[in-house]
Amino acid sequence: MLKNFLASIKEDLLKQRQELKKQLEEIANKSARNQNGYEAKFPEYGDSEDENADEVATFIDTLSLEDNLETSLNNVEAALKKLEKGKYGLCEKCGQPINPKRLQALPQAKHCLDCHK
Ligand SMILES: [Zn+2]
Repeated sequence: MLKNFLASIKEDLLKQRQELKKQLEEIANKSARNQNGYEAKFPEYGDSEDENADEVATFIDTLSLEDNLETSLNNVEAALKKLEKGKYGLCEKCGQPINPKRLQALPQAKHCLDCHK
């Protein structure tokens, strides 16, 4: 694969990683149990019943958002590791090169289009 292409992919991934970490840090704390993990923050609005109900509702939203962000972050980290090892752009299932257009649109893609179906 072209060096320029890989360099721009790497730049993309690094930007994504930074952005994802920033978003995660706003809604979550680093997990004490899992080094690379995060845990959604519980909001503090107040002690009234309404406020408590709002806190729970927000927390449930935060949980699923946190989950999505963390999954994305893990995928980005995995793609960066593959770049380092020179294994980037190969399908994890069939081992064939992934279409560069697909990689441009989704730099953290793990599978080629055929295997993704
Ligand atoms: Zn494949």
